[in-house]
Amino acid sequence: MDDVIVVGAGPAGNNAALTLAKKGYGVTVIDSRENIGDKLCTGLVGEECFRRYPIDPSLVYREINSARVVAPSLEGIRFETPRPVARVVNRVAYVSSFADRAREAGAQYLLGQRVAQVEQRKDRVTVVTNDETLEARALVLAAGFGSQLNRQLGLGEASDYVVGVQALVETEGLEEVEVYVGRDVAPGFFAWLVPTQPGFALAGLLVRKNALERFDKFIAARMAEGTVKGTASKATCWGIPLRPLRKTYMDRVLVVGDAAGQVKPTTGGGIFYSLMASEFAAGALDEAMQGNRLSATQLSAYQKQWKALLSKELEVGYSARRLFEYLGDSHISSLVQQASKNGFVAELANSPEVSFDWHSSMIGKIMGHPTLGGVLKLVNPLLARMAKAPEATEIAVSEEVMAESMSRV
Ligand SMILES: Cc1cc2nc3c(=O)[nH]c(=O)nc-3n(C[C@H](O)[C@H](O)[C@H](O)COP(=O)(O)OP(=O)(O)OC[C@H]3O[C@@H](n4cnc5c(N)ncnc54)[C@H](O)[C@@H]3O)c2cc1C
Repeated sequence: MDDVIVVGAGPAGNNAALTLAKKGYGVTVIDSRENIGDKLCTGLVGEECFRRYPIDPSLVYREINSARVVAPSLEGIRFETPRPVARVVNRVAYVSSFADRAREAGAQYLLGQRVAQVEQRKDRVTVVTNDETLEARALVLAAGFGSQLNRQLGLGEASDYVVGVQALVETEGLEEVEVYVGRDVAPGFFAWLVPTQPGFALAGLLVRKNALERFDKFIAARMAEGTVKGTASKATCWGIPLRPLRKTYMDRVLVVGDAAGQVKPTTGGGIFYSLMASEFAAGALDEAMQGNRLSATQLSAYQKQWKALLSKELEVGYSARRLFEYLGDSHISSLVQQASKNGFVAELANSPEVSFDWHSSMIGKIMGHPTLGGVLKLVNPLLARMAKAPEATEIAVSEEVMAESMSRV
């Protein structure tokens, strides 16, 4: 019997396996894919992630220190930071590098095996794949978005999510990230062109409905402009959780990464949060296994730790996201216009609050701007309070509060 079975060889599962294997535990990682890490993703990671979880420089396509934001009926505005804030990496190779190190540390990988059933018993967990049945003292569920294994164990599912759609495109003269906002492109969310290797970019968008239809329209518009010359891969869709699970632990089981909803609700980025949460999970399991006390009470330490680090970001980010979804094109345009006046964009870009991974302070700074903050506070007074709160908060902004506040703008 293994010490730990990890379901899912994404960033979360591989890093949990790596951390546990390095501590000497017997770990088996199971993934239905043959090609580790080959999951729909843009591969943008922030500098802090890069520093904590280094990437072989040969896997980095680009450093990012600027973006052009295109809002309805406006010329694009440029956002430029003095130093790179993120990198575009070869996501498959990056995620596989964690698996390679986990293997070196002794973890076993079973690829091409779909886990159909997981069962948690008094003294073990049982995992049934299409090929075999395995047992372990504990289970890490890192099976990504929408995993039915969460539901099987009674852990529920993310209460809100968005659909991401993306394809590789051929480009002409695209040298920086472009972000498009507006109802016509991606209502309530955004679309992107992220240059990767010379002459190519990942094009995608997040949206609640009609993802492929909207994507085709977005690409057609970029082709008409001449930025995109053609598509180099088929567009595919995948879900992104916008809310975390209420409970990410139970007897012998921890849930990590997208499966737990540990994703920035502002942008849908989840690699960095998954990597950090998987270390908390491995640490909690280590302590629990040492004393052979794998009860929910013992393992709840994991949730306390990841919540202490991420809850405020998830809550403030989600409220900002919901607020943004309520803004019409005219609101967005006037906010972008206001932001570009009096050097506020440059001030923001140069401020210590600017971060690729931690958005609550940046949201706080925007709320502090006399015009932007004024409008936004009117839209949602709660958001201002939450962004300033020193502690993580669980306040959720109701639809009614949003609708009521919006009607006053
Ligand atoms: C279009 C798009 C763009 C994105 N871009 C970025 C970005 O630029 N930067 C960023 O930080 N985040 C991005 N994300 C989010 C990011 O991809 C995820 O947050 C991250 O991959 C989560 O890692 P994970 O390990 O939790 O899950 P995953 O990476 O989804 O890994 C889960 C693994 O579990 C396996 N699995 C699932 N079910 C089973 C089963 N029953 N049996 C066996 N194996 C199973 C899957 O095959 C998969 O390999 C993007 C997401 C989308 C949809």
